[in-house]
Amino acid sequence: FRLPKITNEPMMAYAPGSKERLAVQRVLRDMTRELDQNGPFQVPLIINGERVTTARKTKQRMPFDHARVLCEYSVAEASHVVQAVEGAMQARATWEAMPFNDRAAIFLKAADLLAHKYRYKMMAATMLGQAKNVWQAEIDCAAELCDFWRFNCQYAADIYAQQPTENSPTTWNRTEYRGLEGFVLAYSPFNFTAIGGNLASAPALMGNVVLWKPSDAAVYSNLLIMEILHEAGLPKGVIQFLPGDAASMAEQAMGHRDFAGLHFTGSTQIFQQLWQKAAANLDVYRGFPRIVGETGGKNMHFVHESASMRHAAVQTVRAAFEYNGQKCSACSRVYVPDTRYNEFRDMLLQETARLHMGPPENSETFVTAVINEQAFNRIDGYLADIKSGKNASTTILAGGQTDASKGYFIEPTVLETTDPKSPTMVNELFGPVVTLYKYPAAQYEETLQLADATSNYALTAAVFADDRAAVIQASNALRHAAGNFYINDKCTGAVVGQQPFGGGRHSGTNDKAGAALNLLRWVSARSIKENF
Ligand code: GLU
Repeated sequence: FRLPKITNEPMMAYAPGSKERLAVQRVLRDMTRELDQNGPFQVPLIINGERVTTARKTKQRMPFDHARVLCEYSVAEASHVVQAVEGAMQARATWEAMPFNDRAAIFLKAADLLAHKYRYKMMAATMLGQAKNVWQAEIDCAAELCDFWRFNCQYAADIYAQQPTENSPTTWNRTEYRGLEGFVLAYSPFNFTAIGGNLASAPALMGNVVLWKPSDAAVYSNLLIMEILHEAGLPKGVIQFLPGDAASMAEQAMGHRDFAGLHFTGSTQIFQQLWQKAAANLDVYRGFPRIVGETGGKNMHFVHESASMRHAAVQTVRAAFEYNGQKCSACSRVYVPDTRYNEFRDMLLQETARLHMGPPENSETFVTAVINEQAFNRIDGYLADIKSGKNASTTILAGGQTDASKGYFIEPTVLETTDPKSPTMVNELFGPVVTLYKYPAAQYEETLQLADATSNYALTAAVFADDRAAVIQASNALRHAAGNFYINDKCTGAVVGQQPFGGGRHSGTNDKAGAALNLLRWVSARSIKENF
Protein backbone atom coordinates (compact mmCIF):
# COMPACT_ATOMS: atom_id res chain seq x y z
CA PHE A 1 0.00 0.00 0.00
CA ARG A 2 1.32 3.40 -0.96
CA LEU A 3 -0.53 6.59 -0.28
CA PRO A 4 -1.41 8.39 -3.46
CA LYS A 5 0.30 11.77 -3.92
CA ILE A 6 -1.81 14.17 -1.90
CA THR A 7 -2.66 17.56 -3.37
CA ASN A 8 -5.34 20.16 -2.67
CA GLU A 9 -8.74 19.40 -4.16
CA PRO A 10 -9.05 21.74 -7.17
CA MET A 11 -11.65 24.44 -6.68
CA MET A 12 -14.14 25.37 -9.34
CA ALA A 13 -15.14 28.89 -10.38
CA TYR A 14 -18.98 28.66 -10.44
CA ALA A 15 -19.29 31.35 -13.09
CA PRO A 16 -22.92 31.95 -14.03
CA GLY A 17 -23.94 29.36 -16.63
CA SER A 18 -20.93 27.11 -15.96
CA LYS A 19 -21.37 23.36 -15.70
CA GLU A 20 -20.72 23.36 -11.97
CA ARG A 21 -23.02 26.30 -11.31
CA LEU A 22 -25.87 24.60 -13.16
CA ALA A 23 -25.22 21.39 -11.25
CA VAL A 24 -25.51 23.11 -7.85
CA GLN A 25 -28.64 24.93 -8.95
CA ARG A 26 -30.18 21.62 -10.02
CA VAL A 27 -29.48 20.03 -6.63
CA LEU A 28 -30.80 23.08 -4.80
CA ARG A 29 -34.00 22.89 -6.85
CA ASP A 30 -34.40 19.16 -6.17
CA MET A 31 -33.81 19.63 -2.47
CA THR A 32 -36.31 22.48 -2.27
CA ARG A 33 -38.89 20.47 -4.18
CA GLU A 34 -38.41 17.52 -1.86
CA LEU A 35 -38.84 19.78 1.15
CA ASP A 36 -42.01 21.28 -0.29
CA GLN A 37 -43.47 17.85 -1.06
CA ASN A 38 -42.39 15.80 1.96
CA GLY A 39 -41.65 18.36 4.65
CA PRO A 40 -38.36 18.82 6.53
CA PHE A 41 -35.64 16.17 6.28
CA GLN A 42 -35.45 13.89 9.30
CA VAL A 43 -32.08 13.69 11.00
CA PRO A 44 -31.60 10.78 13.40
CA LEU A 45 -28.83 10.02 15.85
CA ILE A 46 -26.46 7.38 14.54
CA ILE A 47 -25.38 4.92 17.20
CA ASN A 48 -23.49 1.74 16.26
CA GLY A 49 -24.32 2.42 12.63
CA GLU A 50 -28.06 2.39 13.34
CA ARG A 51 -30.32 5.38 12.81
CA VAL A 52 -32.07 6.20 16.07
CA THR A 53 -35.07 8.52 16.15
CA THR A 54 -35.95 10.05 19.49
CA ALA A 55 -39.18 11.50 20.82
CA ARG A 56 -37.64 14.93 21.40
CA LYS A 57 -36.97 16.87 18.20
CA THR A 58 -35.61 20.29 17.28
CA LYS A 59 -35.64 22.17 14.00
CA GLN A 60 -32.81 23.52 11.87
CA ARG A 61 -34.14 26.59 10.07
CA MET A 62 -32.85 28.42 7.01
CA PRO A 63 -31.18 31.58 8.31
CA PHE A 64 -32.15 33.68 5.26
CA ASP A 65 -35.80 32.59 5.46
CA HIS A 66 -36.44 31.47 9.00
CA ALA A 67 -39.99 30.33 8.41
CA ARG A 68 -38.53 27.49 6.32
CA VAL A 69 -37.34 24.41 8.18
CA LEU A 70 -34.55 22.39 6.59
CA CYS A 71 -34.67 19.48 8.97
CA GLU A 72 -35.99 18.14 12.22
CA TYR A 73 -33.35 16.40 14.22
CA SER A 74 -33.52 13.94 17.04
CA VAL A 75 -32.05 15.09 20.33
CA ALA A 76 -29.83 12.67 22.22
CA GLU A 77 -30.91 11.99 25.81
CA ALA A 78 -28.63 10.80 28.60
CA SER A 79 -29.47 7.16 27.86
CA HIS A 80 -28.35 7.56 24.23
CA VAL A 81 -25.02 8.96 25.32
CA VAL A 82 -24.48 6.00 27.65
CA GLN A 83 -25.39 3.61 24.86
CA ALA A 84 -23.09 5.45 22.43
CA VAL A 85 -20.14 5.24 24.83
CA GLU A 86 -20.70 1.50 25.34
CA GLY A 87 -20.96 0.87 21.61
CA ALA A 88 -17.90 2.97 20.85
CA MET A 89 -15.84 1.20 23.49
CA GLN A 90 -16.84 -2.11 21.94
CA ALA A 91 -15.87 -0.97 18.47
CA ARG A 92 -12.58 0.40 19.74
CA ALA A 93 -10.44 -2.72 20.03
CA THR A 94 -11.02 -3.85 16.45
CA TRP A 95 -10.69 -0.35 15.07
CA GLU A 96 -7.45 0.41 16.86
CA ALA A 97 -6.01 -2.94 15.77
CA MET A 98 -6.92 -2.37 12.14
CA PRO A 99 -3.78 -1.66 10.08
CA PHE A 100 -3.36 2.04 9.47
CA ASN A 101 -3.50 1.55 5.71
CA ASP A 102 -6.99 0.13 5.98
CA ARG A 103 -8.15 2.97 8.18
CA ALA A 104 -6.62 5.53 5.82
CA ALA A 105 -8.26 3.87 2.80
CA ILE A 106 -11.67 4.67 4.31
CA PHE A 107 -10.98 8.39 4.62
CA LEU A 108 -9.39 8.58 1.18
CA LYS A 109 -12.46 6.90 -0.26
CA ALA A 110 -14.70 9.33 1.63
CA ALA A 111 -12.82 12.25 0.08
CA ASP A 112 -13.30 10.80 -3.40
CA LEU A 113 -17.00 10.19 -2.77
CA LEU A 114 -17.38 13.77 -1.61
CA ALA A 115 -15.42 15.23 -4.51
CA HIS A 116 -17.12 13.24 -7.26
CA LYS A 117 -20.48 11.99 -6.02
CA TYR A 118 -21.79 14.18 -3.21
CA ARG A 119 -20.08 17.52 -3.78
CA TYR A 120 -23.16 19.44 -4.91
CA LYS A 121 -25.45 17.80 -2.37
CA MET A 122 -23.10 18.74 0.47
CA MET A 123 -22.84 22.27 -0.90
CA ALA A 124 -26.60 22.63 -1.21
CA ALA A 125 -27.08 21.39 2.36
CA THR A 126 -24.54 23.95 3.57
CA MET A 127 -26.05 26.75 1.47
CA LEU A 128 -29.59 26.14 2.72
CA GLY A 129 -28.75 25.25 6.31
CA GLN A 130 -25.81 27.49 7.08
CA ALA A 131 -26.49 30.25 4.53
CA LYS A 132 -23.21 30.09 2.63
CA ASN A 133 -23.01 31.47 -0.87
CA VAL A 134 -21.81 29.10 -3.56
CA TRP A 135 -18.10 29.99 -3.31
CA GLN A 136 -18.00 29.80 0.46
CA ALA A 137 -19.75 26.43 0.24
CA GLU A 138 -17.20 25.16 -2.30
CA ILE A 139 -14.23 26.34 -0.20
CA ASP A 140 -15.69 24.71 2.89
CA CYS A 141 -17.46 21.50 2.26
CA ALA A 142 -15.97 20.45 -1.02
CA ALA A 143 -12.34 21.58 -0.99
CA GLU A 144 -11.49 21.81 2.69
CA LEU A 145 -13.19 18.63 3.82
CA CYS A 146 -11.54 16.61 1.04
CA ASP A 147 -8.23 18.19 2.01
CA PHE A 148 -8.63 17.35 5.71
CA TRP A 149 -9.40 13.73 4.93
CA ARG A 150 -6.56 13.32 2.45
CA PHE A 151 -3.77 15.35 4.05
CA ASN A 152 -4.42 13.81 7.46
CA CYS A 153 -3.63 10.41 5.93
CA GLN A 154 -0.30 11.73 4.73
CA TYR A 155 0.56 13.31 8.09
CA ALA A 156 -0.50 10.19 9.98
CA ALA A 157 1.71 8.03 7.76
CA ASP A 158 4.61 10.38 8.52
CA ILE A 159 3.96 10.08 12.25
CA TYR A 160 3.85 6.27 12.17
CA ALA A 161 7.09 6.24 10.19
CA GLN A 162 8.95 8.07 12.96
CA GLN A 163 10.91 5.32 14.66
CA PRO A 164 13.97 5.22 16.90
CA THR A 165 17.18 5.24 14.88
CA GLU A 166 19.48 3.68 17.48
CA ASN A 167 19.62 -0.08 18.08
CA SER A 168 22.38 -2.36 19.36
CA PRO A 169 23.10 -5.64 17.56
CA THR A 170 20.91 -7.44 20.10
CA THR A 171 18.10 -4.97 20.57
CA TRP A 172 15.28 -3.72 18.48
CA ASN A 173 13.75 -0.42 19.63
CA ARG A 174 10.48 0.69 18.22
CA THR A 175 7.58 3.08 18.85
CA GLU A 176 4.02 1.94 18.68
CA TYR A 177 1.47 4.70 18.15
CA ARG A 178 -1.60 3.58 20.02
CA GLY A 179 -4.95 5.33 20.10
CA LEU A 180 -6.00 6.87 23.42
CA GLU A 181 -7.39 4.54 26.06
CA GLY A 182 -11.01 5.62 25.93
CA PHE A 183 -13.16 7.70 23.62
CA VAL A 184 -12.82 11.21 22.22
CA LEU A 185 -15.65 13.72 22.36
CA ALA A 186 -15.92 16.08 19.36
CA TYR A 187 -17.92 19.34 19.51
CA SER A 188 -18.19 21.11 16.19
CA PRO A 189 -19.34 24.58 15.08
CA PHE A 190 -21.82 25.69 12.42
CA ASN A 191 -19.46 27.90 10.45
CA PHE A 192 -17.50 25.22 8.61
CA THR A 193 -19.03 21.91 7.60
CA ALA A 194 -15.46 20.73 7.05
CA ILE A 195 -14.47 21.43 10.65
CA GLY A 196 -17.17 19.05 11.88
CA GLY A 197 -15.85 16.37 9.58
CA ASN A 198 -12.30 16.96 10.74
CA LEU A 199 -13.03 17.11 14.46
CA ALA A 200 -14.65 13.69 14.28
CA SER A 201 -12.35 12.12 11.69
CA ALA A 202 -8.87 13.16 12.85
CA PRO A 203 -8.97 11.23 16.14
CA ALA A 204 -10.69 8.33 14.37
CA LEU A 205 -7.95 8.10 11.76
CA MET A 206 -5.43 7.67 14.57
CA GLY A 207 -7.31 4.65 15.92
CA ASN A 208 -9.74 6.32 18.32
CA VAL A 209 -13.49 6.08 18.68
CA VAL A 210 -15.46 9.31 18.76
CA LEU A 211 -18.72 10.72 20.07
CA TRP A 212 -19.60 13.60 17.77
CA LYS A 213 -21.94 16.39 18.84
CA PRO A 214 -22.59 18.55 15.73
CA SER A 215 -23.73 22.16 15.96
CA ASP A 216 -27.52 22.61 16.07
CA ALA A 217 -27.19 24.92 13.08
CA ALA A 218 -25.31 22.40 10.91
CA VAL A 219 -26.93 19.05 11.66
CA TYR A 220 -28.13 18.31 8.16
CA SER A 221 -24.80 18.81 6.35
CA ASN A 222 -23.07 16.98 9.19
CA LEU A 223 -25.41 14.00 8.80
CA LEU A 224 -24.35 13.80 5.16
CA ILE A 225 -20.73 13.53 6.33
CA MET A 226 -21.68 10.53 8.46
CA GLU A 227 -23.43 8.93 5.52
CA ILE A 228 -20.39 9.40 3.30
CA LEU A 229 -18.07 7.94 5.94
CA HIS A 230 -20.26 4.87 6.32
CA GLU A 231 -20.54 4.45 2.56
CA ALA A 232 -16.74 4.62 2.44
CA GLY A 233 -16.56 1.70 4.85
CA LEU A 234 -16.23 3.24 8.32
CA PRO A 235 -17.12 0.43 10.74
CA LYS A 236 -20.18 0.85 12.94
CA GLY A 237 -19.65 2.56 16.27
CA VAL A 238 -16.34 4.23 15.42
CA ILE A 239 -18.00 7.64 15.13
CA GLN A 240 -21.29 8.04 17.00
CA PHE A 241 -23.40 10.94 15.74
CA LEU A 242 -25.25 12.66 18.58
CA PRO A 243 -27.05 15.92 17.86
CA GLY A 244 -28.57 17.42 20.96
CA ASP A 245 -27.96 19.54 23.97
CA ALA A 246 -24.29 20.46 24.44
CA ALA A 247 -24.44 20.86 28.20
CA SER A 248 -26.19 17.59 28.97
CA MET A 249 -23.89 15.78 26.53
CA ALA A 250 -20.90 17.14 28.42
CA GLU A 251 -22.48 16.08 31.70
CA GLN A 252 -22.81 12.48 30.54
CA ALA A 253 -19.78 12.03 28.33
CA MET A 254 -17.28 14.00 30.40
CA GLY A 255 -18.44 12.36 33.60
CA HIS A 256 -17.47 8.96 32.21
CA ARG A 257 -14.40 6.98 33.22
CA ASP A 258 -13.47 6.34 29.58
CA PHE A 259 -13.45 9.99 28.52
CA ALA A 260 -9.99 10.40 27.00
CA GLY A 261 -10.07 13.53 24.89
CA LEU A 262 -11.98 16.57 23.70
CA HIS A 263 -11.72 17.91 20.14
CA PHE A 264 -13.49 21.23 20.12
CA THR A 265 -14.16 24.23 17.90
CA GLY A 266 -16.51 26.91 19.20
CA SER A 267 -16.66 29.76 21.66
CA THR A 268 -13.96 30.53 24.22
CA GLN A 269 -16.55 30.58 26.99
CA ILE A 270 -17.87 27.06 26.29
CA PHE A 271 -14.33 25.74 25.90
CA GLN A 272 -13.45 27.13 29.33
CA GLN A 273 -16.52 25.48 30.81
CA LEU A 274 -15.51 22.14 29.30
CA TRP A 275 -11.97 22.43 30.69
CA GLN A 276 -13.49 23.08 34.10
CA LYS A 277 -15.72 20.05 33.75
CA ALA A 278 -12.72 17.90 32.87
CA ALA A 279 -10.79 19.31 35.83
CA ALA A 280 -13.68 18.58 38.19
CA ASN A 281 -13.80 14.97 37.00
CA LEU A 282 -10.09 14.16 37.05
CA ASP A 283 -10.58 11.57 39.78
CA VAL A 284 -13.17 9.80 37.68
CA TYR A 285 -10.99 9.30 34.61
CA ARG A 286 -8.59 6.54 33.81
CA GLY A 287 -5.94 9.13 32.91
CA PHE A 288 -5.41 12.73 31.89
CA PRO A 289 -7.62 13.60 28.93
CA ARG A 290 -6.24 15.43 25.90
CA ILE A 291 -8.02 18.74 25.50
CA VAL A 292 -7.74 20.33 22.08
CA GLY A 293 -9.68 23.40 21.05
CA GLU A 294 -9.92 26.23 18.59
CA THR A 295 -12.05 29.10 19.86
CA GLY A 296 -12.58 32.79 19.19
CA GLY A 297 -10.59 35.55 17.57
CA LYS A 298 -10.31 39.32 17.33
CA ASN A 299 -8.22 39.35 14.21
CA MET A 300 -6.45 42.37 12.79
CA HIS A 301 -5.25 43.84 9.54
CA PHE A 302 -2.32 46.12 10.27
CA VAL A 303 -1.66 48.54 7.42
CA HIS A 304 1.72 50.26 7.07
CA GLU A 305 1.98 53.48 5.11
CA SER A 306 4.09 51.79 2.42
CA ALA A 307 1.28 49.36 1.53
CA SER A 308 -0.90 49.39 -1.56
CA MET A 309 -4.08 50.85 -0.08
CA ARG A 310 -6.22 49.36 -2.81
CA HIS A 311 -4.94 45.86 -2.12
CA ALA A 312 -5.27 46.30 1.65
CA ALA A 313 -8.82 47.62 1.33
CA VAL A 314 -10.02 44.85 -1.01
CA GLN A 315 -8.48 42.17 1.19
CA THR A 316 -10.12 43.76 4.23
CA VAL A 317 -13.55 43.64 2.60
CA ARG A 318 -13.05 39.95 1.90
CA ALA A 319 -11.69 39.07 5.34
CA ALA A 320 -14.34 41.05 7.17
CA PHE A 321 -17.45 40.20 5.15
CA GLU A 322 -17.04 36.83 3.46
CA TYR A 323 -19.50 34.49 5.14
CA ASN A 324 -20.78 37.54 7.04
CA GLY A 325 -17.75 37.70 9.28
CA GLN A 326 -18.66 34.35 10.81
CA LYS A 327 -15.20 32.80 10.47
CA CYS A 328 -13.09 32.52 13.58
CA SER A 329 -10.37 34.02 11.41
CA ALA A 330 -12.44 37.00 10.19
CA CYS A 331 -10.86 40.45 10.28
CA SER A 332 -12.68 42.74 12.71
CA ARG A 333 -10.16 45.51 13.46
CA VAL A 334 -7.92 47.47 11.12
CA TYR A 335 -5.02 49.75 12.02
CA VAL A 336 -4.58 52.41 9.35
CA PRO A 337 -1.84 55.09 9.27
CA ASP A 338 -3.07 58.69 9.43
CA THR A 339 -1.03 59.65 6.36
CA ARG A 340 -3.10 57.28 4.17
CA TYR A 341 -6.27 56.99 6.24
CA ASN A 342 -8.73 58.79 3.98
CA GLU A 343 -7.52 56.92 0.93
CA PHE A 344 -7.91 53.53 2.64
CA ARG A 345 -11.28 54.40 4.19
CA ASP A 346 -12.76 55.66 0.93
CA MET A 347 -11.69 52.56 -0.98
CA LEU A 348 -13.03 50.31 1.72
CA LEU A 349 -16.38 52.09 1.72
CA GLN A 350 -16.54 52.04 -2.05
CA GLU A 351 -15.91 48.29 -2.17
CA THR A 352 -18.32 47.61 0.70
CA ALA A 353 -21.08 49.52 -1.11
CA ARG A 354 -20.77 47.09 -4.04
CA LEU A 355 -21.56 43.99 -1.99
CA HIS A 356 -24.88 42.27 -2.60
CA MET A 357 -26.80 40.89 0.33
CA GLY A 358 -29.39 38.19 -0.28
CA PRO A 359 -30.25 34.50 -0.16
CA PRO A 360 -27.38 32.11 -0.88
CA GLU A 361 -28.77 30.73 -4.12
CA ASN A 362 -28.71 34.13 -5.92
CA SER A 363 -25.69 34.25 -8.17
CA GLU A 364 -24.59 37.77 -7.16
CA THR A 365 -24.96 37.22 -3.40
CA PHE A 366 -21.85 38.02 -1.40
CA VAL A 367 -23.31 38.52 2.08
CA THR A 368 -26.16 36.35 3.36
CA ALA A 369 -28.00 36.15 6.68
CA VAL A 370 -26.28 35.48 10.00
CA ILE A 371 -26.84 32.06 11.42
CA ASN A 372 -29.74 32.43 13.85
CA GLU A 373 -31.85 34.67 16.04
CA GLN A 374 -29.39 34.61 18.89
CA ALA A 375 -26.55 35.82 16.63
CA PHE A 376 -28.83 38.43 15.09
CA ASN A 377 -29.85 39.80 18.49
CA ARG A 378 -26.26 39.92 19.70
CA ILE A 379 -25.02 41.91 16.71
CA ASP A 380 -28.15 44.04 16.41
CA GLY A 381 -27.91 44.99 20.09
CA TYR A 382 -24.27 45.89 19.71
CA LEU A 383 -25.01 48.14 16.75
CA ALA A 384 -27.98 49.70 18.56
CA ASP A 385 -25.64 50.70 21.41
CA ILE A 386 -23.32 52.40 18.97
CA LYS A 387 -26.18 54.17 17.21
CA SER A 388 -27.45 55.47 20.54
CA GLY A 389 -24.02 56.83 21.41
CA LYS A 390 -23.37 54.42 24.29
CA ASN A 391 -19.87 53.80 23.02
CA ALA A 392 -18.87 57.44 22.52
CA SER A 393 -15.55 56.77 20.78
CA THR A 394 -17.12 54.65 18.05
CA THR A 395 -19.28 55.70 15.08
CA ILE A 396 -20.81 53.98 12.06
CA LEU A 397 -19.26 54.85 8.68
CA ALA A 398 -21.33 52.47 6.55
CA GLY A 399 -24.01 49.83 6.90
CA GLY A 400 -25.55 49.21 10.29
CA GLN A 401 -29.06 48.34 9.04
CA THR A 402 -30.58 45.12 10.29
CA ASP A 403 -33.76 43.28 9.37
CA ALA A 404 -34.96 39.99 10.78
CA SER A 405 -38.46 40.00 9.30
CA LYS A 406 -37.69 37.20 6.81
CA GLY A 407 -34.08 36.21 7.42
CA TYR A 408 -31.44 37.37 9.87
CA PHE A 409 -29.90 40.05 7.67
CA ILE A 410 -27.28 42.47 8.89
CA GLU A 411 -25.67 44.88 6.46
CA PRO A 412 -21.90 44.78 6.14
CA THR A 413 -20.91 47.46 8.61
CA VAL A 414 -17.81 49.63 8.90
CA LEU A 415 -17.12 51.37 12.21
CA GLU A 416 -14.51 53.91 13.13
CA THR A 417 -13.10 54.37 16.62
CA THR A 418 -10.77 56.83 18.26
CA ASP A 419 -10.07 54.52 21.19
CA PRO A 420 -7.77 51.59 20.46
CA LYS A 421 -8.94 49.90 23.67
CA SER A 422 -12.67 50.29 23.04
CA PRO A 423 -14.77 47.11 23.16
CA THR A 424 -14.99 47.11 19.39
CA MET A 425 -11.18 46.74 19.17
CA VAL A 426 -10.99 44.03 21.83
CA ASN A 427 -14.11 41.84 21.99
CA GLU A 428 -15.18 39.26 19.45
CA LEU A 429 -18.54 39.96 17.79
CA PHE A 430 -18.70 37.24 15.11
CA GLY A 431 -20.63 39.13 12.49
CA PRO A 432 -20.20 41.41 9.45
CA VAL A 433 -18.71 44.33 11.37
CA VAL A 434 -15.21 45.77 11.03
CA THR A 435 -13.67 48.68 12.93
CA LEU A 436 -11.05 51.14 11.68
CA TYR A 437 -8.57 52.81 13.96
CA LYS A 438 -6.37 55.65 12.69
CA TYR A 439 -2.87 55.60 14.18
CA PRO A 440 -0.04 58.14 13.83
CA ALA A 441 2.16 56.76 11.05
CA ALA A 442 5.24 57.96 12.94
CA GLN A 443 4.27 55.66 15.82
CA TYR A 444 4.25 52.39 13.90
CA GLU A 445 6.24 50.40 16.47
CA GLU A 446 4.28 51.76 19.45
CA THR A 447 1.00 50.95 17.73
CA LEU A 448 2.15 47.42 16.97
CA GLN A 449 2.95 47.02 20.67
CA LEU A 450 -0.47 48.37 21.54
CA ALA A 451 -2.15 45.97 19.12
CA ASP A 452 -0.30 43.08 20.74
CA ALA A 453 -1.20 44.24 24.24
CA THR A 454 -4.90 44.42 23.34
CA SER A 455 -4.93 40.92 21.80
CA ASN A 456 -6.58 38.66 24.36
CA TYR A 457 -7.15 36.36 21.44
CA ALA A 458 -4.36 35.29 19.12
CA LEU A 459 -5.82 33.57 16.07
CA THR A 460 -4.98 35.46 12.88
CA ALA A 461 -3.33 38.74 11.90
CA ALA A 462 -2.14 40.32 8.67
CA VAL A 463 0.34 43.06 7.92
CA PHE A 464 0.19 45.05 4.70
CA ALA A 465 3.47 46.77 3.76
CA ASP A 466 5.81 47.11 0.81
CA ASP A 467 8.63 48.17 3.09
CA ARG A 468 10.43 44.97 4.12
CA ALA A 469 11.68 46.42 7.40
CA ALA A 470 8.09 47.24 8.38
CA VAL A 471 7.08 43.63 7.65
CA ILE A 472 9.82 42.29 9.93
CA GLN A 473 8.93 44.78 12.63
CA ALA A 474 5.28 43.66 12.58
CA SER A 475 6.24 40.00 12.48
CA ASN A 476 8.37 40.45 15.61
CA ALA A 477 5.96 42.65 17.54
CA LEU A 478 3.01 40.35 16.80
CA ARG A 479 4.94 37.10 17.28
CA HIS A 480 2.48 35.76 19.86
CA ALA A 481 -0.57 37.76 18.77
CA ALA A 482 -1.59 35.24 16.08
CA GLY A 483 -1.19 31.57 15.25
CA ASN A 484 -1.72 32.38 11.56
CA PHE A 485 0.19 35.41 10.33
CA TYR A 486 -0.24 36.79 6.82
CA ILE A 487 2.01 39.21 4.97
CA ASN A 488 0.23 41.20 2.26
CA ASP A 489 -2.71 38.82 2.30
CA LYS A 490 -6.03 38.71 4.12
CA CYS A 491 -6.21 36.96 7.49
CA THR A 492 -8.82 34.37 6.46
CA GLY A 493 -8.77 31.41 4.13
CA ALA A 494 -6.11 29.11 5.57
CA VAL A 495 -5.73 26.11 3.26
CA VAL A 496 -5.03 22.60 4.53
CA GLY A 497 -1.54 21.51 3.54
CA GLN A 498 -0.50 25.16 3.15
CA GLN A 499 -1.23 27.11 6.34
CA PRO A 500 -1.98 24.80 9.28
CA PHE A 501 -4.66 26.61 11.28
CA GLY A 502 -4.99 27.57 14.94
CA GLY A 503 -4.06 30.13 17.56
CA GLY A 504 -3.02 30.65 21.15
CA ARG A 505 -4.04 32.85 24.09
CA HIS A 506 -7.85 32.72 24.31
CA SER A 507 -8.10 31.41 20.75
CA GLY A 508 -7.32 27.86 21.76
CA THR A 509 -4.62 25.29 22.26
CA ASN A 510 -3.06 25.93 18.83
CA ASP A 511 -2.93 22.28 17.84
CA LYS A 512 -3.19 23.23 14.16
CA ALA A 513 -6.15 21.66 12.36
CA GLY A 514 -5.17 19.50 9.40
CA ALA A 515 -1.57 19.01 10.50
CA ALA A 516 0.64 16.43 12.19
CA LEU A 517 0.62 18.62 15.32
CA ASN A 518 -3.07 17.91 15.71
CA LEU A 519 -2.87 14.19 14.97
CA LEU A 520 -0.12 13.77 17.56
CA ARG A 521 -2.63 14.69 20.25
CA TRP A 522 -4.69 11.62 19.34
CA VAL A 523 -1.97 9.05 19.84
CA SER A 524 -0.43 7.65 22.97
CA ALA A 525 2.96 6.27 22.07
CA ARG A 526 4.44 3.10 23.54
CA SER A 527 8.21 2.64 23.39
CA ILE A 528 9.16 -1.01 23.02
CA LYS A 529 12.62 -2.41 23.60
CA GLU A 530 13.18 -6.01 22.65
CA ASN A 531 16.33 -7.99 23.41
CA PHE A 532 17.25 -11.05 21.42
N1 GLU B 1 -9.69 27.96 8.55
C1 GLU B 1 -10.57 29.07 8.35
C2 GLU B 1 -9.90 30.25 7.75
O1 GLU B 1 -8.70 30.36 7.79
C3 GLU B 1 -11.27 29.51 9.61
C4 GLU B 1 -11.74 28.43 10.49
C5 GLU B 1 -12.69 28.86 11.56
O2 GLU B 1 -13.49 29.76 11.39
O3 GLU B 1 -12.65 28.21 12.61
O4 GLU B 1 -10.57 31.10 7.26
